[in-house]
Amino acid sequence: MNAAKPVLLAALLGLAGLMAGCTPAEPPSPGGSTTAVSPGGTASPSSPARESPSQGTGSATTTSEPAETSAPATTKGPETEEPRAQGGHDDPARIDVVVNKQRPLQPRDYFPADLATPALTAGPGGDGTQLRAAAAEAAERMFAAAAADGAPMTVLSGFRSYETQVSTYQHWVDVNGKAGADRVSARPGFSEHQTGLSLDIGDSSGSCRLEACFADTPAGAWAARNAHRFGFVVRYQPGQESVTGYSPEPWHLRYIGTRDAGAMFGSGTKALETYYGLPPAPDYR
Ligand SMILES: [Zn+2]
Repeated sequence: MNAAKPVLLAALLGLAGLMAGCTPAEPPSPGGSTTAVSPGGTASPSSPARESPSQGTGSATTTSEPAETSAPATTKGPETEEPRAQGGHDDPARIDVVVNKQRPLQPRDYFPADLATPALTAGPGGDGTQLRAAAAEAAERMFAAAAADGAPMTVLSGFRSYETQVSTYQHWVDVNGKAGADRVSARPGFSEHQTGLSLDIGDSSGSCRLEACFADTPAGAWAARNAHRFGFVVRYQPGQESVTGYSPEPWHLRYIGTRDAGAMFGSGTKALETYYGLPPAPDYR
């Protein structure tokens, strides 16, 4: 785990400054067992984009909702009867895990058991991107739908291991010092990418890659309106820095399953912490 990754670090040099939660990807982890997701098994929904959030459940695309989507079965959102402030959302094997600057992965070197390599059009750094199986399958369907709607996406990054984050973060410490590193890179064990449930997307034009203006590209705009139909939410939204701990990242999507993603989108809730009734995480402890 201490092996230097000079290629990765060299690549990082060109991407400074804009990726608080999203320091760039590296090639697929050599340690991960890979289970290919069959691209043929996806029933790419080509229904038109729907802007109305009134239904909220994303049920139109739930035919393959994985059994593992075992988030609270009868409750959604904050103010539920289930006690979850302390005990919930900390199991990294569950798709409702919440990782932020106050909630490291437990264990910190967690490694997902079911990584897959979805068949997605890759942007720079995105070749071989891995996600957990349910997120991988959902991403394939989402990409197909976006392309059908004229907003083709690329994938830039998905799962990143603890070891990758160690070397990435240390690189930024070496360059910018610890305070500077914290502005552009998650500390090891605190990156949502380590869950295997997060992916960074780009627009096929390549414009505004990992920049705030990605929100205005066709893919960025499509994702903001439609990602919930496939179980993804835009994790770091504008005006939520004091809750999420990160500046807006319209390219960073997080898989939480169609039920919760639909409910969160439908209610207009902008932060996963708020949706699940968890404390804000503006910074590390
Ligand atoms: Zn990201």
